[in-house]
Amino acid sequence: MFLIPCPFCGQRNEEEFVSGGEARRRPDDPASLDDAAWADHLFNRDNTKGVVREWWWHARGCRLWFMVERDTLNQAISPAEKPP
Ligand SMILES: [Zn+2]
Repeated sequence: MFLIPCPFCGQRNEEEFVSGGEARRRPDDPASLDDAAWADHLFNRDNTKGVVREWWWHARGCRLWFMVERDTLNQAISPAEKPP
């Protein structure tokens, strides 16, 4: 178990949250991508060992989305950011 700092509710148990996966930037011009590049953007993840920027949803709390940086080696989480 680890704690996740919701920017709206404060520190909460991870069981209250649903991971939204790696925070990735949408391609500037998706229509210019071929099918393989678009599929790569939608379905493949880097699976980085170390610090990863992620989306989290506070499903059993305020029900809002936010981003954190989480170290996959030790679950250390940076202060959360509200969505832009
Ligand atoms: Zn919350």
